[in-house]
Amino acid sequence: MLKDLLERRECFKLVCGAGNEDASEVEKLVAIYSKAGCNFFDVCAKPEIVDAAKRGIAHSGILEDRYLCVSVGIDGDPHITKAKIDFDRCISCGACYKICEHEAILNDSRYEIKKERCLGCGQCSKICPQQAIEMESQLINYNEVLPQLIEKNIDCIEFHAISENEKDVDEKWAQINEIYDGMLCISLDRSELGDKNLKERVRRMVEFREPFSTIIQADGIAMSGNDDELGTTLQAVATAQLFQNANLPVYIMMSGGTNTKSTELAKHCGVYPHCIAIGSFARKIVKKYLQNDNLLTDEKLFLEAVEIAKKLIDISLENMSD
Ligand code: SF4
Ligand code: SF4
Repeated sequence: MLKDLLERRECFKLVCGAGNEDASEVEKLVAIYSKAGCNFFDVCAKPEIVDAAKRGIAHSGILEDRYLCVSVGIDGDPHITKAKIDFDRCISCGACYKICEHEAILNDSRYEIKKERCLGCGQCSKICPQQAIEMESQLINYNEVLPQLIEKNIDCIEFHAISENEKDVDEKWAQINEIYDGMLCISLDRSELGDKNLKERVRRMVEFREPFSTIIQADGIAMSGNDDELGTTLQAVATAQLFQNANLPVYIMMSGGTNTKSTELAKHCGVYPHCIAIGSFARKIVKKYLQNDNLLTDEKLFLEAVEIAKKLIDISLENMSD
């Protein structure tokens, strides 16, 4: 059971990306990381992406203790935004194309966003000299989408409560709780609220739920984990520490800028999350394998990628217990 893994602090979550709608990439990523020992997978809230993740798990040949989570966002949450180019302003300088780590910008007759690959990191928007790139929220209707995903036997729904709008957060949270009675995860960071308000929000959100039926994803800086540095992971540890000290009946997951150094830094700080979630960095270290069309048919290539992923998982889990 997912709960048992969390209790034992043996949970490693691969974040495929709430905005990652590239089914082929998700299948490969999940196959690699499942084979390497990852037991929890976070994918975008689309039936075809859940199916792709299931194919990845099947490919790994390990079906026991493999759990799927879908992520849903709220207006203002960067995880569910996509870049959009205003062609009236664009001067075709190519800066966005060069900076995008996810090959989500095409360079054909003009620079264009490949929507299904855009993860909403906002790097292109920040670098554009013409302010020609806007980040647009991709909101979904929970009542329409979530029942279809629940039918597919998902194990968790993650709600990105990253917004200053308390009313919107409360309404969306109530809606999710009405639709699904399984494990829920709340993803939060310190970007919008001060520490005190953040703790109060979580307290309010979990007070009517069964103890330990909620995971708090303590986010550092979302989608910032491209570098394997201590500084990148610092905010994730600080957010996890905040929730650990709050002593709430929840499981704590550390995410957002996480890398090979995250649980080591956490341990130095006396922070022991129940789960470590890694996205950008986990995808980056196997990127060249993901780009290979033969990955799932070439056993040698596949196992090479698995070996790289396994090192990340092993080192992360090693430091999670005191
Ligand atoms: S960075 Fe801005 S101006 Fe340059 S190609 Fe991209 S959208 Fe156009
Ligand atoms: S840089 Fe980030 S936001 Fe821009 S297209 Fe690439 S993935 Fe999307």
